[in-house]
Amino acid sequence: MGAIEQQINVSKSYHSMDVNDIKADIQQRLFQEEETLGIEIPYPPMEVWEDAKIQSPEEIWDFSKGRYDHDKAHLYIHLPFCVSVCDYCIFVTTGGKSAVEARRYADLVKKEASTYKDVMRSRRFDSVYFGGGTPTYLRTDDLADLLKFLLDNFNFTEDVEITIEASPDTVNYEKLSTLRNFGANRLSIGVQTFNDTILKNINRRHNGEKSINAFNAARKAGFENINMDLMYGLPNQTMDTWQKDMDIVAKLLPETVTLYALTFRRHSKIYGKDLVYPSSKIKMEMYEYGRNILLENGYSQLNRNFFTRGGFRNNNFCYQDNCLHSYPLLGLGASAFSYAPLLPYCNTPDIEAYSNAIDKDFLPIARGVFISPEEEKYHYMVLGLKLAAVDKTGFKKQFGMVPEEMFGNLLQALKELRMVGISDTTIRLTPDGIKYADFISRLFYSDEIRNKAMKAGFNRDKKSPEGGRV
Ligand code: SF4
Repeated sequence: MGAIEQQINVSKSYHSMDVNDIKADIQQRLFQEEETLGIEIPYPPMEVWEDAKIQSPEEIWDFSKGRYDHDKAHLYIHLPFCVSVCDYCIFVTTGGKSAVEARRYADLVKKEASTYKDVMRSRRFDSVYFGGGTPTYLRTDDLADLLKFLLDNFNFTEDVEITIEASPDTVNYEKLSTLRNFGANRLSIGVQTFNDTILKNINRRHNGEKSINAFNAARKAGFENINMDLMYGLPNQTMDTWQKDMDIVAKLLPETVTLYALTFRRHSKIYGKDLVYPSSKIKMEMYEYGRNILLENGYSQLNRNFFTRGGFRNNNFCYQDNCLHSYPLLGLGASAFSYAPLLPYCNTPDIEAYSNAIDKDFLPIARGVFISPEEEKYHYMVLGLKLAAVDKTGFKKQFGMVPEEMFGNLLQALKELRMVGISDTTIRLTPDGIKYADFISRLFYSDEIRNKAMKAGFNRDKKSPEGGRV
């Protein structure tokens, strides 16, 4: 599980090329790098962030004062505990820690939260997201206690969305009922696949039936907003198993579905194992099949990976939506990502270093980046395109020009490739363009960030499993 998946390739600048050259190049790259799969939220990307020399919460949250004074914000809490670590895991987590250790960590998160109490006083949180790791690995009382602490110490909107990520082997009706009673109203279940053999291959601790039971228990406990994470590109996965997965999703009809492609890095256990993966072509077919099934069953596609159904708030995954809208995000816990507008930053991913910092009353912040006025325009475009639409009116209001004045040739090339539609007010990805939303958004990186990214050696330790053996 985990909300942010990084996958980056930024090898080329399009800002000074003519329309036909851009078109030819994009077509070639799309063919070569169909791997545009995954969600990469921050811009500039995390790999180019530098050591943060931030001394106090005031310094962080005052930086953008007067520019982006949203009165709403979100809260993310990273709980890095799992029963054991899945073979494909790329997130900050640990396997098999005791309940006492998890409880101690939750107490540190409370202490960290307290340091932000004053600077967040003027804001109301309209979403809270417990991610990890497996938040439901914590004992029910400990998780409920942490939630209650946050609710008691910050301000929230009346319809605040409170999401808890869960693995099917760590929940039952009683636990879910308690969490529901404490205010949790959205559950995100890490299903990945319902196929028992594939689940075993990737070292998940549950079978398909347990996922269905977790879903039914959540419904019975009163969760009316449930997300399911599904993965494609897994070892030994075939179109046949994927179709069966999607059949089950179409029967259960969770409110939202997130489709993730398997990506892996050198530090994941799966890397280098002698396994057979579906080819890039099959993976793209899986994605398209999944997308079509969801659209046929009444889901709308909000961005490349995320599908929503029913009469819920349009943004019924506030956390992700608001990250991409650059609303303020306060992240707590080891590795947690925060976004004070114009200043994305993250905590140290080292759990011990995080604990020591909190114990000694230091901020556990590791890296961040101050977004310059020049970079703001690129930032606006990149994040807008990840959400499938850029508001031209907002761009003009903020920067005194329309996006075409800055990105004319690139936008024209994408339009001729039928990847974007451009009206007087909006630049919108077409259904074809949405498939490549991550790839397209990367084309709008500034040259400065692109160059830094190249120096940082993007993709050095990242790859997508390609058909056959790796
Ligand atoms: S459930 Fe698996 S993939 Fe998710 S954080 Fe835990 S170990 Fe990683």
